[in-house]
Amino acid sequence: MSISLQEDRLLIRLEPLPHGNRGARQVDQVLRITAKDAEQISLLKELPEQTLGLDFWMEPVHESLPVDVRVPFHSLQAVRAFLAYNQIQYNVMIEDVQDLLDDEEREMVKFRAFPRSTDDFVYTTYHDLNSIYSFMDMLVAENSNLVSKIVIGKSYESRPLNVLKFSTGANRPGIWIDTGIHSREWVTQASGIWFAKKIVTDYGRDPVLTDILNNYDIFLEIVTNPDGFAYTHSSDRMWRKTRKPNPGSSCVGVDPNRNWDAGFGGPGASSNPCSQTYHGPSAHSESEVKAIVDFVKSHGNLKAFLSIHSYSQMLLYPHGYTATPAKDQAELHDLARKAITELKSLYNTAYTFGSIITTIYQADGVTVDWTYDQGIKYSYTFELRDTGRYGFILPANQIVPTAEETWLALMAIMEHTKNNPY
Ligand SMILES: [Zn+2]
Repeated sequence: MSISLQEDRLLIRLEPLPHGNRGARQVDQVLRITAKDAEQISLLKELPEQTLGLDFWMEPVHESLPVDVRVPFHSLQAVRAFLAYNQIQYNVMIEDVQDLLDDEEREMVKFRAFPRSTDDFVYTTYHDLNSIYSFMDMLVAENSNLVSKIVIGKSYESRPLNVLKFSTGANRPGIWIDTGIHSREWVTQASGIWFAKKIVTDYGRDPVLTDILNNYDIFLEIVTNPDGFAYTHSSDRMWRKTRKPNPGSSCVGVDPNRNWDAGFGGPGASSNPCSQTYHGPSAHSESEVKAIVDFVKSHGNLKAFLSIHSYSQMLLYPHGYTATPAKDQAELHDLARKAITELKSLYNTAYTFGSIITTIYQADGVTVDWTYDQGIKYSYTFELRDTGRYGFILPANQIVPTAEETWLALMAIMEHTKNNPY
């Protein structure tokens, strides 16, 4: 009798709380809101973002696109009431944000180790900044004939801005790849690590990559926003912007993908320092952006520029600041189609593609508009997995598949660049 009673108690204790009965646990949720018209979009734009502590993962811009927003526990009731009152449809995309973050942390702790070589490095988990920087140093030490590390500048908090240079000869044109300019998009930095290892593994084995590297240098900046990235590990996993304080505001940071001198300060960016899309006080005000600007100008011969974000599964080309088609639109469009077809061939991951302004929305001051206007024809932005199920908290078991499929698209663009010199 007493044994069965104990067993009963054990059973009760092991059972998760039913969803409707989580009163004790104060969970943040991510809601996916589906506005049906422009009026509902403008209602959403009027939500007092700061007061409610909302974090838009996908901003309200147009009724054709979902609005994803992380709502802190203390605002859930208010936001739900607002949506119901205005008859705006929504569903709960992430029931318990902390639950996903706990899973992510457990996964990281499990693989926390000090690999002695890049062969020992665990590509299937997320890593912190020190671990990524030491990965780069190991890769350089192991492949000094092929890879070197260049420091293109310093972040606001004085961290080195490291770029891996893959090169087999002097005076070559270059291909640029960056990941992690938005620090919370963790699958991008993790993919960048995988790309770096892939390049040293395939050089001399894969004829197409070998041919590319015999004619072009590849530059890879894995942690493009190191201050933000360190902050996602130490304090706020959902940090997107830089970490530079804004004079006169208690809100920190600038959106480094609205800070470029291409349509800078237009309506597709925010002038509010508290916004996730704050463009900053002036173009190139962020040292993380300025370092790339200086590098691009001093190099002077980059032929492709691939800037990698998450999430949404999109491949985008200029422009973001104007609806006037880029002069190379037809070629960029065809190449995007080819790249996403390659990408899909591996795991059937479906991407949409097109110019930024027609596929998502007007975005001003974005990286690839500036690089395109500098004359780098093959300028593209990726938005990697997923389409919202996990958003920025993509489980670690999707890192390698994401990197593998993305690599096929990168190869398609790099091969086309090689075959179409300009
Ligand atoms: Zn991003």
